[in-house]
Amino acid sequence: MMVTTNLPENPLLIGKGLPPFDAIKPEEVVPAMTQLLAEVEKDFQTLETTVKPTWTGLVEPLQQISERLSWSWGIVGHLMGVKNSPELRSAYETVQPQVVQFWNNFSQSKSIYEAFKSLKNSAEWETFEPAQQRIINAAILDAELSGVGLEGEQKDRFNAIQLELAELSTKFGNNVLDATKAFSLTLTTKEEVDGLPPSLLSLAAQAARSELEENATPENGPWRITLDFPSYVPFLQHSTRRDLREKLYKAFISRASSGEFNNWSFIDRILELRQEKAALLGFNNYAELSLASKMAPNVDAVEGLLEELRVASYDTARQELEDLKAFAASKNAPEAYVFKHWDVSFWSERQREEKFNFSAEELRPYFPLPQVLEGLFSLAKRLFNVTITPADGLAPIWQEDVRYFQVADETGNAIAFFYLDPYSRPAEKRGGAWMGECIVRAKIMDEGTEKTRLPVAYLVCNQTPPIDGKPSLMTFMEVTTLFHEFGHGLQHLLTKVDYAGASGINNIEWDAVELPSQFMENWCYDRVTLLGMAKHYETGETLPEHYYQKLWDAKNYMSGSGMLRQLNFSFLDIELHSRYQPGGKETPIDVRNRIAAKTTILPPLPEDSFLCAFGHIFAGGYAAGYYSYKWAEVLSADAFGAFEEVGLENEDAIAATGERFRDTVLGLGGSLHPMEVFKAFRGRQPSTKPLLRHNGFAIA
Ligand code: ZN
Repeated sequence: MMVTTNLPENPLLIGKGLPPFDAIKPEEVVPAMTQLLAEVEKDFQTLETTVKPTWTGLVEPLQQISERLSWSWGIVGHLMGVKNSPELRSAYETVQPQVVQFWNNFSQSKSIYEAFKSLKNSAEWETFEPAQQRIINAAILDAELSGVGLEGEQKDRFNAIQLELAELSTKFGNNVLDATKAFSLTLTTKEEVDGLPPSLLSLAAQAARSELEENATPENGPWRITLDFPSYVPFLQHSTRRDLREKLYKAFISRASSGEFNNWSFIDRILELRQEKAALLGFNNYAELSLASKMAPNVDAVEGLLEELRVASYDTARQELEDLKAFAASKNAPEAYVFKHWDVSFWSERQREEKFNFSAEELRPYFPLPQVLEGLFSLAKRLFNVTITPADGLAPIWQEDVRYFQVADETGNAIAFFYLDPYSRPAEKRGGAWMGECIVRAKIMDEGTEKTRLPVAYLVCNQTPPIDGKPSLMTFMEVTTLFHEFGHGLQHLLTKVDYAGASGINNIEWDAVELPSQFMENWCYDRVTLLGMAKHYETGETLPEHYYQKLWDAKNYMSGSGMLRQLNFSFLDIELHSRYQPGGKETPIDVRNRIAAKTTILPPLPEDSFLCAFGHIFAGGYAAGYYSYKWAEVLSADAFGAFEEVGLENEDAIAATGERFRDTVLGLGGSLHPMEVFKAFRGRQPSTKPLLRHNGFAIA
């Protein structure tokens, strides 16, 4: 029988399958989204009144509504990242507020929340698989954390707090930006720019051209140094003018701490409101609220882990500073005996140059993209027994050099697909690298029959495109970035979960979600993997041994200081959101000093106002969550440790361990608590030892 399907005229309304990228135009976004929002709002209102506390009467219809919107809006979001244009941006901004509003109503619906709670108390609950129970629990928790369980005055107060917190975090972030912008150092003589690399001179001359002197040149100045990272960091690393380094450093650490952009008063207010919000929701403090949806069970567990890492890295960090002073002394630098904060970057760069005398550029010829991909795919075969082959032409693409690949299992059956958009296109593509979901694996009904919908991922990088007939030549950092994103991709693609709400990376606690990505980075240092793919693109010569050795040594350069710095931020964040009492005897500065006493080697200067620029926790989503970076790193290092233990040269054992990793970490995704997933792979709780060993620290 012929089935004729009437495809909608607007390609953004097709609602399933691969996005027809070749047919989508920016002018179709507003009409499509307007129509779609009206439809899903209507469907959602109907569901709110007719909902039944059963899997098929609640979870499935809810999933269908959410997927209908995500299919279209996901495509628009993806194009915003890779094919931006003024037309697309204005269309996006037109409909975005309505989409956000819809999702808010969606997650805060009282009748849906009540239905979820009844479902959890129903007889059906016991028949559910763990994945289904996790999806229901997550929906309940999510609704509760957005205040759905509150009534009357408490509800009003909660909403008022949410509103004020949103405003404060925007103001906090804006103050950091404005204070950063308000300072600059204009240099006019060659003596003042002594030591600066050509790239910084160009940047500084460009900054001068746009603000003060249209004839500024990299050679003759004037040069404008700012507190933006691309200017600030290399200046401290390379300027031989110690007085200017001091000036810039002091300006940096006092950003947003006085005058019109003063964030001090916001800090206590934000902490106070978060504390009140947590209390309304029944938590003792804000850290408990934050951890309610994370893998870490409680503040003690977080602090226990941080303390283990602190004890292990402190002496190394102290020694690194002593070595740095000795190095400066060996170069007859007078500051070796009065070493200050603004000397650290400068001397660590000098020492780095002397120890690992090579530049990132030198290695590029050894890493042409096609070879790196071959290396990556053969690693996927070696570890997870999957075969990745080109499938270009099977999917519409948004840009001519985007690739499409198929992932097949050991029997040759396709189990997943992914796009790869590797090259930088500054005019239309966002910077950085990321993995995005295009299609999520799930069992679905399609025209009356049950099918497994295969997952599809977007892998997006920003590396140098091929030029002058040469392939894209990558830096080692670009290689590790690709491996990292591929790791996220693997978890999306190799999932075995059939419920969209918990398949792939869905429903994974965010302090655990970086496990597979950081895990894959480790393989860039594995001899077999690295030397298998690092071959000169013209001569075919394998990466020389001395480079391999330097890559290894450079990996752990100043690792104690780097670790301690992250621990300082993490401890401070947890302390301010748990024990600290806003308006009490101790001030945030006191807390900062108390934490610094155990987590810094050079104590902060009295005027150090780093907290006023700590946007991660006061303007971003990392409040009582900064520790997540280290938490996930412990998991990923320990997972890699399982492969090291069986011997990286022992192919049979590597394959067996890889299969177990695929079946647990990659396969189970968000269907089980991440601690259970981890234990299923490792046979025990996570240990910090592999991370300490990888960083070159002594292990007690
Ligand atoms: Zn990541």
